[in-house]
Amino acid sequence: MLEARDLSVSYGRTQAVQSLSLKVQEGEIVTVLGANGAGKTSLLKALQGMVRPAAGQVLFKGQSILGHSAARRVGEGLVMVPEGRQIFVSLTVHDNLLMGAYTRKDRIEAEIDAIYQRFPNLAARRDMPASVLSGGEQQMLAIGRALLSKPALMMLDEPSLGLSPLLVKALFKLIGDLNREGLSILLVEQNTHMALATAHRAYVLELGRLVLQGDASTLADDPRMAEAYLGS
Ligand code: ATP
Repeated sequence: MLEARDLSVSYGRTQAVQSLSLKVQEGEIVTVLGANGAGKTSLLKALQGMVRPAAGQVLFKGQSILGHSAARRVGEGLVMVPEGRQIFVSLTVHDNLLMGAYTRKDRIEAEIDAIYQRFPNLAARRDMPASVLSGGEQQMLAIGRALLSKPALMMLDEPSLGLSPLLVKALFKLIGDLNREGLSILLVEQNTHMALATAHRAYVLELGRLVLQGDASTLADDPRMAEAYLGS
């Protein structure tokens, strides 16, 4: 469904992503792991169209989308939930959700109701400014907003950052539920344990380069992962 081919991202002389190739097949959860500065966010931004790659190709549903704007990619079904949520704190919860539907011309009331059913805490605060939400609720709002663009593939950038262990568990359950409902997912995470337990496949980046890839369950048992990322 989504493919990066020999993708490179540079900021001046900093090579954030170096000739990286990865795929997300329809129905998969794929996780991208790596330390701070490994290039994970730069990769997602290039896939979403927020930074222009220095080289390489991005294909979505078999077509090159390299020349498509970020907004056009959202309309095509590729949506990113950025790190730090990036919700509009001065707008109400409801207005934040409506922002997620800006590419839609059809009626979305029933879908917004479905979001509120999925996230009752958001329903209870629908007319309050998003600034009153807890970190976990803001993450749910960001995901709810992204769902309203009817994505085929959702990219999540470190969604568990700053959440309590209980909320992290709920978040990964949500990711699994959304996937079972048909959403393909590309998940950037620092929570290696939870990401490998949830994903089908994983890629590991170091300094912009791919160093390991494979089935998530196989990588979870790989001694190289244990040394570098699993704290053992
Ligand atoms: P983190 O987990 O800290 O977000 P990351 O794996 O997502 O890290 P990136 O944020 O993609 O990594 O950063 C990769 C490299 O690119 C780093 O060396 C970083 O300093 C650099 N970098 C990222 N954004 C910019 C920018 N806008 N301008 C210059 N250098 C940048």
